[in-house]
Amino acid sequence: MPPLGIARGVWQIGGYGLSDDADCSVYLVDGGGELAVIDAGVGRSVPVLLANIEELGFHRSQVRLIVATHGHIDHTGGLAGLKAETGAVVAAHALELPAIQEGRPALTGAAYYGVNYEPVTVDLVFRQGEETTRVGRQELMVLHTPGHTPGSIVVLAECGGEKVLFGQDVHGPFDPAWRSDLHAWRRSMRLLLELEPDVLCEGHFGIFRPKEKVRRYIERCVAANGGW
Ligand SMILES: [Zn+2]
Ligand SMILES: [Zn+2]
Repeated sequence: MPPLGIARGVWQIGGYGLSDDADCSVYLVDGGGELAVIDAGVGRSVPVLLANIEELGFHRSQVRLIVATHGHIDHTGGLAGLKAETGAVVAAHALELPAIQEGRPALTGAAYYGVNYEPVTVDLVFRQGEETTRVGRQELMVLHTPGHTPGSIVVLAECGGEKVLFGQDVHGPFDPAWRSDLHAWRRSMRLLLELEPDVLCEGHFGIFRPKEKVRRYIERCVAANGGW
């Protein structure tokens, strides 16, 4: 399936039905000739992700930044391959380094997917509650939103007048083996509601818009996990 346009300069280039069905949703942001990829899929679909980037008229060498929202294999399996093919910087939160850089099997969940994880060096390490980075002219706000995993992050970008939130595994699930923390997650969900995004790009459940539907989705996730 061809890439899916979401907002100005934002596309979905991978995910269920688009690349490999085990992939998380993979997003592409164009900062004006320089590109960021949000998450990388399980690993098998790196050639498809690259083909989708090129189908949009870009060259793979324009990818400058690959953000890993957390260390699960369905989001990180393609990091090493994408990095090798594009030369991009890989970015993630410090608390996900044991998964992404060391490849600890209990944290990556690689066994669930029957794939081997190839660890990758994280070049840009986020350590604050909130920090900004950029790709080309596009500013990307990175917020630490622990819960699903300790170093889960979201990325917020203003694209064509819309606040686009790359939330990925907002819905959970939660597992002590990954050091999930429901209390921290509820605080993170409050933070996401305060951002009032116009569009939520979720990791596995598609694109939510407008603002009201984003809010209802987050509230439904909280209700499904014991409420506030
Ligand atoms: Zn996950
Ligand atoms: Zn996921």
